[in-house]
Amino acid sequence: MQFVIAETLEHALELMASGSRPIAGGTDLVVGARQGKEPLPDALVAIDRLGVLASIDGGTGEDGEIVIGACVSHATIAGHGDIIDLVPGLADGSSLVGSPATRHVGTIGGNIMNASPAMDTGAPLLAAGAAVEVASTRGSRLLAVADLWLGPGQTSVDSDELCVAVHIPRPGPRTSSAYVRLEYRRTMEIAVVGAGAQVSLSDDGSVASASVALTAVAPVIIAVQGLSEVVGLQPGEAARTVARLASEQSRPISDLRASDRYRRHTVGVMASRAVLAACRRAAGEEIAVPVNRSEGIGAGYPGDAVANTTADGVEL
Ligand SMILES: Cc1cc2nc3c(=O)[nH]c(=O)nc-3n(C[C@H](O)[C@H](O)[C@H](O)COP(=O)(O)OP(=O)(O)OC[C@H]3O[C@@H](n4cnc5c(N)ncnc54)[C@H](O)[C@@H]3O)c2cc1C
Repeated sequence: MQFVIAETLEHALELMASGSRPIAGGTDLVVGARQGKEPLPDALVAIDRLGVLASIDGGTGEDGEIVIGACVSHATIAGHGDIIDLVPGLADGSSLVGSPATRHVGTIGGNIMNASPAMDTGAPLLAAGAAVEVASTRGSRLLAVADLWLGPGQTSVDSDELCVAVHIPRPGPRTSSAYVRLEYRRTMEIAVVGAGAQVSLSDDGSVASASVALTAVAPVIIAVQGLSEVVGLQPGEAARTVARLASEQSRPISDLRASDRYRRHTVGVMASRAVLAACRRAAGEEIAVPVNRSEGIGAGYPGDAVANTTADGVEL
């Protein structure tokens, strides 16, 4: 096996053009190989030391876009002030990944390029309308994350294309986001189901626009369709409508962790909670990252607060 540590981005792209596969944190690639899912490729190029892939621009450019380098770790994203302020849903997702060790080594680029339907950054990125910048020796291009995932472990990106960064449009005023997942334990876990929401509120507190994406209920992360239905609704009513749409549109599998019926129901509950948390954040309320912990959603400890009703009395 050939293992080369890339010295520059161009070096990495040249190696990929001649068939090497990129490795960032290795938490999917190496762990998967050890578990016998797929053998390690014959040629690997390590990209984790490329400083050019390791920074976050919290919107200093003309268009105010947030740009996250592919090798930024989940721990960095989860603790980054600009991400928490502007796209807290992504910080929620990153802060739930694996364990502290996984979050310090695992990267956003590896998460989205691994294309698991259970990835925790996918739904917040899709809800935020993010795009992926990929580069090869042939040039670079941007593609919407909505067009990135084709199926479990499959992307629309060519094998010589490296994910360089993720671009997130700057959210407008009274706009915020949240991501929640159903989990059976707090660490070393993968979402049973999950949901990310980005919501903009009108001055009267009703929903002006919403986008919602779902985790682990289809072969890829999916966007909930028909959300024009929630425009003009107050958050509680909007959350109930989203719950119905999410459950109707999910196509989950049954496996040893959950039945399809259970996933279909609980993804609606997670989607409604994500919408409510995003609405509260959009209204200016501070909900600490991740919503799972601060609102007692998912795996908890005895005595944890559990959010069973919303501020406006809606039963969850
Ligand atoms: C114990 C454990 C718990 C976990 N828990 C979670 C969890 O809760 N939620 C979750 O979402 N994930 C979880 N994961 C999965 C994993 O940690 C994440 O998906 C992580 O973000 C992968 O990043 P990485 O840098 O380690 O990827 P790597 O393993 O280095 O790469 C993953 C794949 O992406 C490709 N790749 C990597 N970087 C790029 C790039 N820049 N451009 C193109 N292709 C690239 C690689 O070739 C490989 O195919 C867990 C993993 C473990 C081992």
